[in-house]
Amino acid sequence: ADAPLPELNQQRIAVYLRLRPVPRPSGRVLTGAEDGWVEFNVPKDTSQGLINNSRESYRFAFDGLLPPAAGQAEVFERVALPVLHSALDGYNGTVFAFGQTGSGKTFTISGGTERYADRGLIPRALSTLYSEAARRTDHSWVVHVSYMEIYCESGFDLLEPNREVQALEDLPKVHVLEDDDARLHIRNLSLHRCDTEEQALNMLFLGDTNRVVAETPLNLASSRSHCVFTVHIEARRAGEAVVRRSKLNFVDLAGNERVVKTGMSASMQLREAKYINLSLHFLEQVIISLHEKRLHVPYRNSMLTQVLRDSLGGNTRTVMVAAVAPESQHIEESISTCRFAQRVA
Ligand code: ADP
Ligand code: MG
Repeated sequence: ADAPLPELNQQRIAVYLRLRPVPRPSGRVLTGAEDGWVEFNVPKDTSQGLINNSRESYRFAFDGLLPPAAGQAEVFERVALPVLHSALDGYNGTVFAFGQTGSGKTFTISGGTERYADRGLIPRALSTLYSEAARRTDHSWVVHVSYMEIYCESGFDLLEPNREVQALEDLPKVHVLEDDDARLHIRNLSLHRCDTEEQALNMLFLGDTNRVVAETPLNLASSRSHCVFTVHIEARRAGEAVVRRSKLNFVDLAGNERVVKTGMSASMQLREAKYINLSLHFLEQVIISLHEKRLHVPYRNSMLTQVLRDSLGGNTRTVMVAAVAPESQHIEESISTCRFAQRVA
């Protein structure tokens, strides 16, 4: 059996606020953004009555602030690099992006596609992972990746090899099983061995393409689903039989915005919104239960918390990026995002 790992010093989730750049600055509602805190001013006529509170100024504290000028490299170094280093040392870890649609979650996690400098946390983590593995020659390393999507509590494999030839609804759904020893087994999720950074990047690219392609047939807009990219790391010290395993998850959470009726049928949207709200609520419950060291942690309430069960709490490292679109018309969603961040921090 594996020798127990020393306790990590992280007790709680580290929560960062990332402000997306504003193409055309208008209506200054974000009055302060310094060091670890951010302040919003809500003009009376901006509030649509959704903030059930008469205050005009809202102030939130974070473990770190990533202003619009913060580039992808800085975000990687501050947010994901510590989690990656822990994963290389054998600890599971999770990086979440949370926020309304359009706030920069996917840009943060996967990155923009136009410029090399826009590469997000996953490609940067993969790059560092392979270079570190090559440097740490006292171990031999095996890396697998998996990529799944959770839509209305159903799991789909974004790297399923038959995905292109079969209708999405005919593919076997991903599900989570627990054995008698409470060990986790994820069924129907393919694991892909990647011996090089390039192979791993190709998998990320394939999954991202599948995410986009899937939007039409099932109305499965990727912003309405949670996407989990997992790097499975195995390290074996030269001359030893024991394999040390760790997982590093990157989670692009579904947009937490209120339902705004667009083209899709209203009932479908309400169904999606119900699932999203519930799963975010259950995620929050799990995180809070872990913080409070409750005996019962309600992992089983949602697929996301089941999938992340061994990578949240306990001896793991978890960070969350709360993504905010700083324009005044998004003020209510931004405050709601900060409130969520505050509750789980
Ligand atoms: P979300 O995934 O939260 O819906 P996206 O990541 O798709 O949001 O971001 C919305 C848009 O804003 C995209 O066009 C994206 O490229 C752009 N964007 C987001 N964050 C940044 C940033 N930090 N710098 C430059 N462009 C950004
Ligand atoms: Mg997105």
